[in-house]
Amino acid sequence: MFLRLFAAFAAASAVLASAPATASLSRAEQRMTAVVDAEQERTVAMLARWVDQNSGTLNLEGVEAVGRMVRAELEPLGFEVEWIDMKATGRAGHLVATHKGNGRGKRMLLVAHLDTVFEPHSPFQRWVRRGDWGEGPGSGDDKGGMAVIVAALRAMHQAGKLKNADIKLVLTGDEEDAGSPIDLARRDLVAAGRWADVALDFEGLAVEDGKDMGSTARRSSDSWTLTVTARSGHSSGIMRPESGAGAIYELARIIDSFRRELPEDKLTYNVGMVGGGETLELSGDKVRMSATGKTNIIAATAVARGDLRALTREQIERTKAKMQAIVARPLPGAKAVLTFDEGGYPPMAPTAGNRALLARLNAVNRDMGLAEMGELDPERRGAGDISFVAADVDSLAGLGAAARGSHAPGEAVDIPSIFRQAKRAAILMSRLAAERR
Ligand SMILES: [Zn+2]
Repeated sequence: MFLRLFAAFAAASAVLASAPATASLSRAEQRMTAVVDAEQERTVAMLARWVDQNSGTLNLEGVEAVGRMVRAELEPLGFEVEWIDMKATGRAGHLVATHKGNGRGKRMLLVAHLDTVFEPHSPFQRWVRRGDWGEGPGSGDDKGGMAVIVAALRAMHQAGKLKNADIKLVLTGDEEDAGSPIDLARRDLVAAGRWADVALDFEGLAVEDGKDMGSTARRSSDSWTLTVTARSGHSSGIMRPESGAGAIYELARIIDSFRRELPEDKLTYNVGMVGGGETLELSGDKVRMSATGKTNIIAATAVARGDLRALTREQIERTKAKMQAIVARPLPGAKAVLTFDEGGYPPMAPTAGNRALLARLNAVNRDMGLAEMGELDPERRGAGDISFVAADVDSLAGLGAAARGSHAPGEAVDIPSIFRQAKRAAILMSRLAAERR
């Protein structure tokens, strides 16, 4: 009896000890992870070709060329691919690809982007592999993310898990510098978000202390301009009732009040540029000022430009109202106007639905034998395209590749993270496709 029990126990332990990390994956899921691994070199070679084609946001031909390269990967998988021209917004366009499944499972929207911050005049143009790192413009942000998508879809295709899946890909061509008007520039993305049940964003995977993190939220990004005008006059009369405080003291009062009165968790507000004097001119692109003035003249005008980043729409509205209230109590002789630029990025708030998606991804992690992913502090992430759909659909960000030095020469993608993320995405998407919508 003892022996039999012992033998059974020993056999069970032997099974446990020799069980692969994929013990909880179905046969098809194991097949998908095997395909991602078998195609590693093919995936890296594809990424290298994309990186070697410059696609700085303002290089419209380059962005379109990368669009054609990605199209060539998607059509053999059964996607119907459409190029949406966006010249009317001053940008190249977007690639929208649709895979028709059985119409019963969750509809998935995959978001990534074709463009990079590196224009043709940048010295940083080529892919260079250094062991596990792939250096190159957009290698991580976001061509690495597109490589994750293609590797995952190919794995689903070969395991027979793609045919039933209803998937739409929107690869924007202007994520790094959105076209204008923004309503037109994001029209197709927003429409795809309304169609979808789930949105997955393939921008960079966040890694903290060596641990992969889940991104359930991204903060908004808005820019503002504060314009102050005031009664001018001889400096000797400043602060007297008849002359007032001048524009620069009023500007200083306002931005210092912002600093003291606005603080809230997950909210930041930067003052990026100030100027003032007797005259002031702000350039059309709003990144240069030229001022004139004298020490003995009360400043007639002053301007400040800055940004505002928040976690929810309510937080944005509350903060904007506080800012306007501060602006509305000017010093004597001054008048201020605060405006917000068109084209801001909305927030992706950390909703229960987004957290439920991360829980799904963590079920995948457990079944793959990987550590669970914690929730990334949204202060650690910038704004992104997924925020345009996040109000309409449950969303998860950061499903792309891990990278270092994004947006600067030397940007490099962590190559093994592409495969890890492609396996996670393939399994997550095939499970979602099997779930009734
Ligand atoms: Zn990006």
